[in-house]
Amino acid sequence: RAKALGKARYELFNQEMYTNALARLQLENDLRRAIERHEFQLYYQPIVSLTNGRLIGFEALLRWQHPERGLISPTDFIPLVEESGMIVEVGYWALHEACRQMQSWQVRHRTNSLEKISVNLSVKQFSQPDLIEQIGEILHSTGLDAGSLMLEITESAIMENGDEANAELLKLRKMGIELSIDDFGTGYSSLSRLHSFPISVLKIDRSFVSLIDANGKNLEIIETIITLAHKLGMDVTAEGVETKEQLAFLRNLNCECGQGYFFSRPLDNTAAVALIGYCWRI
Ligand code: C2E
Ligand code: MG
Ligand code: MG
Ligand code: MG
Repeated sequence: RAKALGKARYELFNQEMYTNALARLQLENDLRRAIERHEFQLYYQPIVSLTNGRLIGFEALLRWQHPERGLISPTDFIPLVEESGMIVEVGYWALHEACRQMQSWQVRHRTNSLEKISVNLSVKQFSQPDLIEQIGEILHSTGLDAGSLMLEITESAIMENGDEANAELLKLRKMGIELSIDDFGTGYSSLSRLHSFPISVLKIDRSFVSLIDANGKNLEIIETIITLAHKLGMDVTAEGVETKEQLAFLRNLNCECGQGYFFSRPLDNTAAVALIGYCWRI
């Protein structure tokens, strides 16, 4: 009986693995065609100055409009895109599209109030040998000023690439591109180590910001990160600001910028353009 049960379990497991593999394969196939079929889209989430409430930039965030499954969030497809190696292609698509959009907004609005467009770079993309050339080509073809571009890189992308990472970051910085550390606090790195890299903005991960309401000793963590970042000459952007208590706390600590549902969810380009020049009352 035990043996029969064991076998049934084994088959069940196999069946499940088979179904999962099939679903993945299907999704991978769909992904391959998603670029040509124009199924990828960028959403833009406002980044706001906590000094005066002004919109100063957007973070470009990928969305996949799947013909049958609807809008798929990047947390559900980025890992798959990473594993299949397609992240490089998809990543450059996103970078190109974000630069193109930003350039056209700047021309149309003749305003310097929209300072930066932030784009995420994946670990794999970051370790491409032709990264610098590709980015240079995208800036050239879209006509976007390098100073308007901020690239978000995770701690692990930097730590995994070691000394080479520093050389690449320096080249990007020399081109005039600004660099930020994304999701800070979730990876293995130290601020003192990051200090040696040409990074100007530290984005504190949402998980720390969400602790703020819990009013306890947890607040010391975020306070320490902000204070240390400032001592090292970096600006801080808080991710995932959802409440006015969090906002007040962050402003007290002189955190420069905020991003989160308190201000706005990520928006499609029509809704985003309507916010250019906007100022939140904070
Ligand atoms: P991320 O770079 O840390 O982006 C911030 C994520 O937090 C976004 O999720 C955003 O919608 C979400 N968020 C912002 N404010 C709030 C808030 O107040 N509350 C909550 N609960 N969530 C908030 P999204 O758009 O699902 O993106 C998830 C991740 O996927 C991004 O995290 C980024 O790591 C990755 N990703 C997105 N677009 C790209 C891309 O073009 N290239 C690469 N390599 N990765 C991307
Ligand atoms: Mg990001
Ligand atoms: Mg982030
Ligand atoms: Mg995050």
